[in-house]
Amino acid sequence: MKYIFVTGGVVSSLGKGLLAAALGTLLENRGLKVTIQKFDPYLNVDPGTMSPYQHGEVYVLDDGAETDLDLGHYERFTNCKLSRLNNLTSGQVYQTVLNNEREGKYLGKTVQVIPHVTDEIQNRIQQLAEKSKADVVITEIGGTTGDIEGLPFLEAIREFALEVGYDNALFVHVTYVPFIKAAGELKTKPTQQSVAKLREIGITPHILVCRCEKPLEVELRQKISLFCNVPYEAVIEEKDVEHSIYELPLMLQRERMDDLVCRRLRLETPPANMAHWQEIIRKLIAPQHRVRIGVVGKYIELNDAYKSVYEAVIHGGIANDCGVEIVKLDAEEIERIGPEKTLAGLGGILVPGGFGERGIEGKILAAQYAREKKIPYLGLCLGMQIATIEFARNVLKLAKAQSTEFDPNTPHPVIALQEEQKKVSKKGGTMRLGSQACQLTVGSKASQLYGSFCIHERHRHRYEFNNAYREQFEKAGFVISGNTPDGKLAEVIELPNHPFFIASQFHPEFQSKPNQPHPLFKGFIAAAHAQLHHKPI
Ligand code: GLN
Repeated sequence: MKYIFVTGGVVSSLGKGLLAAALGTLLENRGLKVTIQKFDPYLNVDPGTMSPYQHGEVYVLDDGAETDLDLGHYERFTNCKLSRLNNLTSGQVYQTVLNNEREGKYLGKTVQVIPHVTDEIQNRIQQLAEKSKADVVITEIGGTTGDIEGLPFLEAIREFALEVGYDNALFVHVTYVPFIKAAGELKTKPTQQSVAKLREIGITPHILVCRCEKPLEVELRQKISLFCNVPYEAVIEEKDVEHSIYELPLMLQRERMDDLVCRRLRLETPPANMAHWQEIIRKLIAPQHRVRIGVVGKYIELNDAYKSVYEAVIHGGIANDCGVEIVKLDAEEIERIGPEKTLAGLGGILVPGGFGERGIEGKILAAQYAREKKIPYLGLCLGMQIATIEFARNVLKLAKAQSTEFDPNTPHPVIALQEEQKKVSKKGGTMRLGSQACQLTVGSKASQLYGSFCIHERHRHRYEFNNAYREQFEKAGFVISGNTPDGKLAEVIELPNHPFFIASQFHPEFQSKPNQPHPLFKGFIAAAHAQLHHKPI
């Protein structure tokens, strides 16, 4: 078993997660089995209760774990099947250590960061290594070197590397080489200092990945090599990608990073075959067609809040050789100035998931506009609830229809809490979470798109379609085309006599990959493109 640790220095947001994921792609394409895990130094147990403004999207795994959005990159770039073992926070570490202490497991010892906290961190690496049976475990340490809360993690990986031996552990440090305009040059000092900081802790990086806006010329690489004590070929340039994050594996391959990693870890493999990946990039850079998709949200100014949704839309584009321009629309703006001014001319309208009342009316207006003007609509989780409320108000004429999330006293609770959820008072990890089976109706558009009647999709929500209204909806032509296998919960809805109006209670975006675009996104983009060009789908 080989272990790669990815740390970051100088500033945050350097894309360590993407780097870990892209390295994973290359290693997999050399025939290795890879798994990737993320350590997050914050004290929250998981990001499930954090605001998207703090943390961006919460990425949900099959087993219902609510995790950091970097795990989304890991799943999109590789074939790894991740579980809650793949994301560890300081909150979880301390929770375990304190529980152990209360159970008397430390036999009267003073409980300390070293060794109790650090051992717990190492246990997690070990557990994942055993469970995944991977050839290579990549561990990304969140945060920036020098952060107080990251120290126990760095200490733990230092000890771990010592334990497994030189040939089996590798430290990759992602750093920033800023371009200083006034001097007209790239500067290496921040990199030198962040490497010095790591060495102070006892970690000597073997590979430096240098994020930069301009090419890293030979002299600069030599300087970094000399001052940071890494071989010249281990100074890897990572320029900002030109078109798409999916270019990154190819960029790293050009820098021969995977060769270096395999040589250093004594992994004998053929070079990575990236032909299919190159084809994906070709479709991204020079697509045959183009389409504009409006995403109606309330965190639209924040790129990370709908990360998987944006990615899945792009994958839908790849499947149709179609470049997608994503138009980020503020739901409150639609409320203020009306749908015509904001939505006209779009190829498709997508309403993603969300919580809380703000922006709800704007999203309802968007769903109504899509339904009436026959613009392809894709609703995800809250987006399905919105489509339901809109249909109730404007087709069934239940003018005050609402979800009880937004109005507990509505006379028409078409979206409401299940009895079990009413008793829940704890917020963390208590929603309907993770992968569940769904039965699709024969002859439905959804089953055609999936090419299957039984699917598994990931959930993260509390509220459900209220079955008291099922008959009334269905009589009016609202098709509930997906249900839980016991028939009790609505999972997919669709409208016939519309080019494409589909919404799901689950989150299909979490299972889409550039090389395996999700069928709902593929169908949505196909419909959007056909609609703009007046082509039959
Ligand atoms: N707020 C809604 C619920 O809890 C939808 C959640 C979501 O979109 N993820 O049911």
